[in-house]
Formats: sequence, structure tokens, C-alpha cells
Amino acid sequence: MNTKELYQQIILDHGKNPRNLRKTENFNKDAKGYNPLCGDKVHIYLKLNENKKVEDISFEGQGCAISMASASIMTDLIKGKEEFEVKEIVNDFLDMIKEKDKLNNNILGEDDKTKLMCLSGIKQYPMRVKCATLSWHTLTSAINNFKEEINTEDN
Ligand code: ZN
Repeated sequence: MNTKELYQQIILDHGKNPRNLRKTENFNKDAKGYNPLCGDKVHIYLKLNENKKVEDISFEGQGCAISMASASIMTDLIKGKEEFEVKEIVNDFLDMIKEKDKLNNNILGEDDKTKLMCLSGIKQYPMRVKCATLSWHTLTSAINNFKEEINTEDN
């Protein structure tokens, strides 16, 4: 199996069986996002503890395989991280998906980085980049307590 096939298989797996697809009980941060170009919808729930560590993160929503896989992989990686680490991972991912060849953060291990790199092929399809980044922008919105729904066509 080559890298491209491995990447596709991981995306398919997460797209079909999304992790953390539920609503966190006692969440203290949340945000909604919508990508009208594709119809993807996501609602991110976050529970930060008193040390600003992500005790739980989950999502509800529906959309294409890319948007679901991206939210699934993201929530998997973010759980247990500190708030400042979350911000660094989000920025690194968004840079990678838009222009860089690799991830530069020192927070994630190689296995986790491989899962994120599965989405790197999306770069060639600008329309689909919004599917992949929707949940990440929505996570940022939740952490920063923005009340408005994220709309990928608003920037
Ligand atoms: Zn989509």
C-alpha cells in the first residue's frame, strides 16, 4: 500500500465511523459552523477544565466524508491537550492544508501527524479545503467564545 492509499483508507475509516460524534455532557464552550458550498454542518462541544486542559471534545453534524473525517481526526487529537497547544495545532494544520508540505508543531507524535497529513491531498481541490477546515475554524470560534456561527463564505 502506498502513502496515498494509506491516507485514503484513514479518511474513509474516519468518514464512515467518526470518533467523538456525540454531545459532551457539561460542555463549557461550543460553536457551530456551516459550509454552504458543500452543505457541511458541524457543532463542536468542548469541556475545558480549571487548568485549561481539554477534558472532552465532541461534535455533532453532517456533511461529506472529508468534513466528517476532518472533525473526527481533529477531536481525537485535541482531547487531553492544553488550550495553548490546541491553538498551535490548529494554526499548524491550517498552514499545512493551505500551503506547507508538512506539520511543524512539536506537540503531536508521528502517528497523529500522519492522520492529519491524510488531509494534505485536499490542497489540490480548493473547494474541498473548506470541507477540511470547517471544524478547525469552528473549534477556534468555540475556544474564543465567538457567538456567531462560522460560515466558510464569510471571509
Ligand atoms: Zn464537504
